[in-house]
Amino acid sequence: MKLMTSIAALLALAAPALAQDASPEERQAQSRVTEIAGPEPRLVQTPEGQPPSDAVVLFDGSNMEAWESVDGGPAGWSVEDGAMRVTRGSGDIRTTDSFCDVQLHVEWRSPANNEGHDGQDRGNSGIFLQSRYEVQVLDSHQNPTYANGQAGSIYKQHLPLVNASRAPEEWQSYDIIFQAPVFADDGTLRRPAHVTVLHNGVVVQNHAQIQGATEWIGYPSYKAHDCAPIQLQDHDADVSFRNIWVRPM
Ligand code: MG
Repeated sequence: MKLMTSIAALLALAAPALAQDASPEERQAQSRVTEIAGPEPRLVQTPEGQPPSDAVVLFDGSNMEAWESVDGGPAGWSVEDGAMRVTRGSGDIRTTDSFCDVQLHVEWRSPANNEGHDGQDRGNSGIFLQSRYEVQVLDSHQNPTYANGQAGSIYKQHLPLVNASRAPEEWQSYDIIFQAPVFADDGTLRRPAHVTVLHNGVVVQNHAQIQGATEWIGYPSYKAHDCAPIQLQDHDADVSFRNIWVRPM
């Protein structure tokens, strides 16, 4: 804020108020004071229905080469009809690459509720940013549960602003903008993580401050870490994922 104030003061010195009768040339010159010459933002191609040209594609429907089991070894989930699906009991999977600040696009689908589950047992999965901070995946279509545990929540920390859920068996999307936490050299937290989430194009988290690593029991806290993989949860439900890409920022 102080820096902004001093920049504003410098601009005021450099740009004294013009007389009413300033010439067009003088006004043109004055307008340049607040222009920023560059660097010119680099070009990104955004073809309809495809990831942006600078995205890292994590799953295009064909294979799980970008993923591994959190227990080591290959990811134990199945790939079918352009989607990957949780194999119950095979465990969470994570990207082989690590990430810090990202824009992340994920599409997911809850299974039909043939087994009569409700609450947290219906279509539970999750997207763990940096393997720690969970954006909840749940079938929250006509399925009440605690508010900070439904789809679009930052699990046990922030309830979603609205419930934008579609019915089970329909594809849904998350677009996530994640600002990783920053730690000092001695491991203390200098800046907490923040996250913005769009669920099916609707804002459900608006720059929410993450309070620490996701906990089921107890309160979250931070422990210093580096960039880390994106992790998907096996929570004993047949949740599917497709079209996953990330843009490190
Ligand atoms: Mg979950």
